Amino acid sequence: VEPAMLKAPSMSLKEYIDTLGYIISKWRAPIIRVRDDWVLDEDAAVFNALAEFGVKYVPVSDTLGEAGEVSLNLLNPFHEVQGNGLRVYDSVVELVSRNTPTPLVKLRSLSNSDVRVWAKLEWYHPFSLSIKDRVAWYMLHRFLERGVKPAKLYEASSTNTGMALVGLGNYHGVKTRIYLPATAQRCVDYVFKAMGAEVVREGTPITISMLSKVLVEASRDNAVVLNQFENDYNFLVHLRYTAKEIDYQLMSKGVKPSVIVAGLGTSGHLSALSFYFKNKYKSVETIGVQSAQGSSIPGIRRVETGVKWLHMVEVDRVVDVRLEEALTGILHVARIDGILPGFSSGAAVYALMKLLEEGSLRGDVVVVFPDHGLKYVELLETLLAEKCVVE
Ligand code: PLP
Repeated sequence: VEPAMLKAPSMSLKEYIDTLGYIISKWRAPIIRVRDDWVLDEDAAVFNALAEFGVKYVPVSDTLGEAGEVSLNLLNPFHEVQGNGLRVYDSVVELVSRNTPTPLVKLRSLSNSDVRVWAKLEWYHPFSLSIKDRVAWYMLHRFLERGVKPAKLYEASSTNTGMALVGLGNYHGVKTRIYLPATAQRCVDYVFKAMGAEVVREGTPITISMLSKVLVEASRDNAVVLNQFENDYNFLVHLRYTAKEIDYQLMSKGVKPSVIVAGLGTSGHLSALSFYFKNKYKSVETIGVQSAQGSSIPGIRRVETGVKWLHMVEVDRVVDVRLEEALTGILHVARIDGILPGFSSGAAVYALMKLLEEGSLRGDVVVVFPDHGLKYVELLETLLAEKCVVE
């Protein structure tokens, strides 16, 4: 189901969303009869057993009784979200399109006998070292499929989407100009310059508030704005890949999520995860994390600054976190698990720390880590020098 359907005269936005929800709730990996009594179903037990035995081809029949033989790989229910085991790639673009899934790791720092917290490590992407590679790749590649190469790409970004677009733009020979808010790290300008992109710094701390200026300047300069804030491929890439990856990864452990926690920027990834998991397993609780009033956390912001997809799906709660609290979350994970997540990850961790303290968490909890703490050395320097950690 493609965003183009949104424009189909016969289907309202509400009908489109309902249709997608229905598909997910009914979605199963294809059930294919293998011989008479074997069925490849969503837990993939038969597939795994056959693969383990080194079977390459299996006889199949469809519901009409047509019989034939197909490669076992064709029946692989994990196909869409399974990358390339030996990690050899024909192009850097495949580092995004085929290098999935990103790791899902159980955190010692947030788990106990009743709760297991699984972090999805999104800095395992090549261009921006963040979750935004998925979005930039899907928006640009769906655009390029139309057969028109943009002369230039302009985009407003707090850093990550811009960095991913610059990398992909370079690969495709498309020049990029990125509009950065005042809050983006100073060193980011040099990263963009090194990559050959143009950087425009704006005085605002809120990335989306630059959008109207970007659109005006792009139309003046004949540039394309893929527009992560409104482009439905931002939502759909997480529905098609991020959500499914997490689902399959947890299935491989024989569990399903009880709670999902993620930060809110454009709202793309949390909205898609909420939509997918609430349609698939009714009992999942989803929690969005926004920056508290008057606090600025890189990558996330407040819902009232304008988010598109969050309003189209069901999300149980949105919680406020301050910058200093996000730092506390980062340090908690860093000092127990030994990995240093970025500030939006730290904000999600802090929200979880509070829920753990209340004793209101059970089961398998998923938290998304959009990027890595090394991206924020300037901010770490300032906050640690000021001893801003909330104990
Ligand atoms: N965290 C970081 C570091 C980000 O760069 C972003 C988005 O730019 C987010 C969180 C929010 O993700 P989303 O735009 O999917 O809401």
